[in-house]
Amino acid sequence: MHLEQNVSLKSLHTFGFDVKARYYVEAKTKEDIYSLLNYRSMIRMPILIIGAGSNILFTKDFEGIIIRIHTKGITVREVDEEQVILSVQAGESWDPLVAYCVDQGWAGLENLSLIPGTVGAAPIQNIGAYGTEVKDLIESVHFVEIESGEERTFSREACHFGYRDSIFKQAFKGKIIIDEVHFRLQKINGENETSLLRLEYGDISSELEKVGISKPGLKDVREVICNIRRRKLPDPAFIGNAGSFFKNPVISNHTLEALKQQHPDIPSFSSGDQIKVPAAWLISQCGWKGFRDGDAGVYPEQPLVLVNYGQADGGQLIHLANKMMRSVYNRFRITLEPEVNIF
Ligand code: FAD
Ligand code: NAP
Repeated sequence: MHLEQNVSLKSLHTFGFDVKARYYVEAKTKEDIYSLLNYRSMIRMPILIIGAGSNILFTKDFEGIIIRIHTKGITVREVDEEQVILSVQAGESWDPLVAYCVDQGWAGLENLSLIPGTVGAAPIQNIGAYGTEVKDLIESVHFVEIESGEERTFSREACHFGYRDSIFKQAFKGKIIIDEVHFRLQKINGENETSLLRLEYGDISSELEKVGISKPGLKDVREVICNIRRRKLPDPAFIGNAGSFFKNPVISNHTLEALKQQHPDIPSFSSGDQIKVPAAWLISQCGWKGFRDGDAGVYPEQPLVLVNYGQADGGQLIHLANKMMRSVYNRFRITLEPEVNIF
């Protein structure tokens, strides 16, 4: 392991701000993680764990140690006629894992295609897209507590997953390192493939129809989702961003009915007794779509994504986000909540 000093974080997070870490190190094995925790208990510095940096906004230099989890390995632990359980090291990249599972004919992760980031970060905000949340596929999460060095395994239930939320974003925030995630996936065979697919999310079926696929398989679903995402979302390799900056607000039915009096065309999606309102719609209604102030902006194709066109910094993005939150609140009395982790 190589502990470096005053390291630029520009290429280590997807907003691409020019900030520095006082110390930076990559953990390539589990042993690296444990030795780093021993070292850290001697020097008592703030610690920040990162994966691919695709859900992080730095507002300043980080005066501590940044540990990038770079551990690799996928193990097939159990397999029977119908299911497979995989143990995946936290530093594996998310999308190649999805591609591997689709190639193997293991269903479950395909709707989460092309989400940037690492496997270890996926449970933190219970990544989700196109009607699937990773919690549906997680069997358990293995992690180590930073202060005590104690290793623990949490079942799916113990992770308290919610909409873009988990125990790791709440009570355990900043206190643990996830080093391995276990997934349970379904094996496809000639007969069950169609029934395992999740096509109910509008864009998927319309896109399949557009390309003339009437009996889709796992690979088709992955492909159409990748195509839609490439069209709609900025590629961080060219335009700095961290995906959706805000969560979609969840409101009560009563609030929705009251809002409909003034805004009859407000879109909403219900799940159980909760109603989700697309934040992108609220933001667009307030006129922010495509807004740009210097190099900080609101992506024209998807206004939930705030972007760094080149030389913006975290402060400018936060300033813009605050202005957007105020105008959405003034118009709809709804408080937007950032999804991005701000440091
Ligand atoms: P990082 O950004 O490095 O870290 C995120 C948080 O997790 C930080 O608080 C960090 O401290 C913590 N963390 C990271 N790894 C570990 C670990 N091993 N142990 C403990 N803590 C850890 N998200 C979605 O849910 N759905 C989407 O469809 C989606 N699309 C996106 C599209 C784009 C273009 C971009 C840029 C982002 C998108 N995201 C999406 C957000 C992001 O990709 C996910 O949140 C992803 O899981 C972040 O992974 P990461 O490795 O980059 O985490
Ligand atoms: P979209 O399809 O234009 O839909 C806008 C919003 O409406 C989404 O946020 C979605 O909520 C909600 N929605 C649409 N159809 C729905 C349905 N049938 N059932 C329930 N909710 C529905 O969204 P998009 O921006 O192109 O993104 C597509 C998917 O990728 C979404 O699931 C989105 O969450 C995900 N994504 C996430 C990020 C991120 O950084 N978190 C970035 C890009 C894309 P949900 O968000 O809850 O699905």
